[in-house]
Amino acid sequence: MLKVRFAPSPTGYLHVGGARTALFNWMHARKNGGKFILRIEDTDKNRTKPEYLNEILESLRWLKLDWDEIYYQSQRFDIYREYAQKLLEKGLAYQKDEAIFFKYQFNQIKINDLIRGEVTFSELPKPEEVIIKRDGSPTYNFSCCIDDALMGVNCVIRGEDHLSNTPKQILLYQALGFDLPEFAHIPLILSPEGGRLSKRYGATAISDYKKEGYLPEALVNYFLLLGWSAGDNKEILALNQAKELFKLKDVNKTGSAFSLDKLKWVNSRYIREKDSSQLASLLKDYLESEGHPYARANEDELKTAVNLLSGRLVTLADFSSQADFLFEENVNYSSDSLEAIKDKLVDEIKELIKALGTIDNFQENVIESVFRETAAKLNLKPKVLVHPVRVALTGKRKGPGLFETMAVLGKDKVTKRLAKLVEYWESRE
Ligand code: GLU
Repeated sequence: MLKVRFAPSPTGYLHVGGARTALFNWMHARKNGGKFILRIEDTDKNRTKPEYLNEILESLRWLKLDWDEIYYQSQRFDIYREYAQKLLEKGLAYQKDEAIFFKYQFNQIKINDLIRGEVTFSELPKPEEVIIKRDGSPTYNFSCCIDDALMGVNCVIRGEDHLSNTPKQILLYQALGFDLPEFAHIPLILSPEGGRLSKRYGATAISDYKKEGYLPEALVNYFLLLGWSAGDNKEILALNQAKELFKLKDVNKTGSAFSLDKLKWVNSRYIREKDSSQLASLLKDYLESEGHPYARANEDELKTAVNLLSGRLVTLADFSSQADFLFEENVNYSSDSLEAIKDKLVDEIKELIKALGTIDNFQENVIESVFRETAAKLNLKPKVLVHPVRVALTGKRKGPGLFETMAVLGKDKVTKRLAKLVEYWESRE
């Protein structure tokens, strides 16, 4: 049976690169009826932190990358000692001070990498390698090799940054008489300029993306297309579909550039595709986790707001600033919105207030025809009236459809807010 593993070290948060490695492992396992092992490489007592571990586990759960088995290397020190002992007994290791060194003869090593094809390792810098440190903890190469072998991992999928470790691990497999797994090294994720991924470009913890209002489905969709495609240039592809199509051999051999704009686009698409109850409940959870006062809105209020705004949200975090005019009693005019009004249409807005006041059925289509009739009567193009009315109602220059917005706000709020703008203008004459 196919067994793969994701082996994060809880010495930092889960980042884009790690999440994508986990995702590719998960997809390969799920596509082929294999098992996905999560191995926590927490051998470094000083650098391992519980908050990193929690973040890694929570982020993987949030992304829905479920695992079949979980192991902690910190609980397996006896096993590493036992295997170090075996190497000592075979004369393949020696002790110096408290540490144990593995010594090897190096001849060329060739592997058939499932992504990169044939890879040849021609030299290693030293004829020895520490396997147990002076503090008794194993080194990464040693514990990794023993665990992969004992856990039955037969396909090691990891970032290309580990390629230089592979020959050392192969030598250890051979020295201990273990069968070699297959290897697949995934090319790195690069910044848009082609360099290392920096904090500015997506080297952000997955939990930060959550806080910034990204949806897990959107992140997964974006990550899975970072270096892989099903061959049809499809940009919206859910995990469920992707796992049926995924093939390691289709993973690109060269690095892929991270694009925050693309991620935002994918996120906005996923937001738009949710129905209003789903999105309202996601927003409720999000606002609650942020301790935002709009979390107190009831489901109907949130659904109404979502119906009006979902097409304009890039992330869930955009909601509170865009929906403020729905939840606040008074509108705050943004500085640019007032400045952009060329003429103060005091009499015209008063006329509009009167006309709107006569509507019994305050619905979008009725509002629209009354609005247009009033503009015609005043000899104004409707769009000349639209702008100040939008500012009066929402405080902003841009927003969702005006008549829909008016219907959602209701007659009372609409007329009051229009009157307020008139008052504001008059007080400044
Ligand atoms: N703990 C290593 C890391 O986080 C795992 C590398 C591997 O997958 O072998 O980079």
